[in-house]
Amino acid sequence: MQKITVLGATGSIGVSALSVVSQHPDRFKIFALSCNMRVAELAIQCKQFKPSFAVVSDTSMAMELKELIKSSSPETVVLEGADGLGKIASDQSVDIVIAAIVGSAGLLPTLEAAKAGKKILLANKEALVMAGSLLMNAVNSSNGVLLPIDSEHNAIFQCLPHDYASSKESGINKILLTASGGPFRTRDLNSMSAITINEACSHPNWKMGKKISVDSATMMNKGLELIEACWLFSLTPDQIEVVVHPQSIVHSMVEYLDGSILAQLGNPDMRTPIAHALAWPQRISSGVNSLDIISAMRLDFESPNLKKFPCLSLAIKAAKAGGSAPITLNASNEIAVDAFLNKEITFPEIAEIIALTLKKTILTNPDSLEAIQICDKKSREMTLKLIFEYFKR
Ligand code: NAD
Ligand code: MG
Repeated sequence: MQKITVLGATGSIGVSALSVVSQHPDRFKIFALSCNMRVAELAIQCKQFKPSFAVVSDTSMAMELKELIKSSSPETVVLEGADGLGKIASDQSVDIVIAAIVGSAGLLPTLEAAKAGKKILLANKEALVMAGSLLMNAVNSSNGVLLPIDSEHNAIFQCLPHDYASSKESGINKILLTASGGPFRTRDLNSMSAITINEACSHPNWKMGKKISVDSATMMNKGLELIEACWLFSLTPDQIEVVVHPQSIVHSMVEYLDGSILAQLGNPDMRTPIAHALAWPQRISSGVNSLDIISAMRLDFESPNLKKFPCLSLAIKAAKAGGSAPITLNASNEIAVDAFLNKEITFPEIAEIIALTLKKTILTNPDSLEAIQICDKKSREMTLKLIFEYFKR
């Protein structure tokens, strides 16, 4: 029986992960669950899964969870804040940690899990974008395992040889990282500033949290994923080609030197990569319907429109620059997306603000957690200042 911690259990990935886990009570037991603020939802999950621990990051809400679960799940100990997350990510009883917190808030507990040598199922791409070197080193030196559950990276992982060590040794020519193109793939460039929050959060193929939905709409998500892929598979940005594939059925591909291209296909449902990584190297059912390849009918591929989606260019540039650039990109993006969701800036201004922040930030080479955190903080402050000075209405 494998014991699992789900960091960010109330989110879109957290709920999908619990759906897979609940189908295999003979294999998996939930050890701990966490949320930021949505304690009513966490209470329902506690009632169903009876975890040993439940962690509420927002310390002002922890008491409320205690009240909510005192009769429905009396065995669950409620913890709070960063210490609580660190405990459930690294406790010696835990076998698998599902890192499904959104944004930079996921970095510290994911790093704790890595240092403790856990098997980590990584959804929280921002952790790798911010601290790729630190996180990969922590996994390697503790003999931990890092399995991607971001659908594209999980697809790439499935198309790589079992003994993959480097692209050179495995004869890889390039990676084809697929992108749906988001809700604005065919939108007129001239009407981008009229985009509403609802439009930006309505993804054609995937149902996701708000931040990643906006990231998909700007295609920053694909840029973050390109950086994520570089760390996961020891690649340079030049080895990755972003390909727009509107049907989201091919989840990514690997091209080998002999001309073979291996692809992983399936319905767009996160329970497939989650089930794959949970059971790896075995296979288990996920609850996802079998793909009806006949009714899918056609698979289209096209190049991304970098003029319409400048966030993708910014991310590729940051990936090539390395050092502090991805940290600044990520921090600035989190602030800009927040400002868009608060109706303080327009959709195209997200990219403009990130570009300006990158331009005004000196490139450094943060090599410790502390240096990364300082860079992250400074980049956020710079973005907030720029929004206030140039953009806020
Ligand atoms: P979501 O907004 O639905 O859920 C986020 C979860 O994180 C919630 O449980 C929330 O309580 C928790 N959280 C938010 N802020 C927090 C904070 N400050 N401290 C502690 N916990 C906090 O997001 P999601 O769509 O599930 O995405 C989660 C992560 O997975 C993101 O990094 C995203 O990029 C990645 N991802 C998501 C999908 C998807 O289909 N949703 C696909 C691939 C990768
Ligand atoms: Mg993805």
